[in-house]
Amino acid sequence: MDVALGVTCSHQPACPAADACDREAAHTVATHPEQGWSLLCNGVLLFDDTGELLPNGVVIAPHRPTDVRPERFRHLAS
Ligand SMILES: [Zn+2]
Repeated sequence: MDVALGVTCSHQPACPAADACDREAAHTVATHPEQGWSLLCNGVLLFDDTGELLPNGVVIAPHRPTDVRPERFRHLAS
């Protein structure tokens, strides 16, 4: 829980803070699929293109493929 950002996480164990690299592992507290975003309990707005808006106003550009094709990655497993 990051009190400084005014975010309340009541989960135990506490979810990753908004500035943690695993911030997306926090619980979803609100989801608006029609608008394409979800709010995590650490205050992160997670967009369905994997972009993020942090509570401190920092914007994280989309960073994961949203149309992963497994066949493109088969060579990595062999
Ligand atoms: Zn939480």
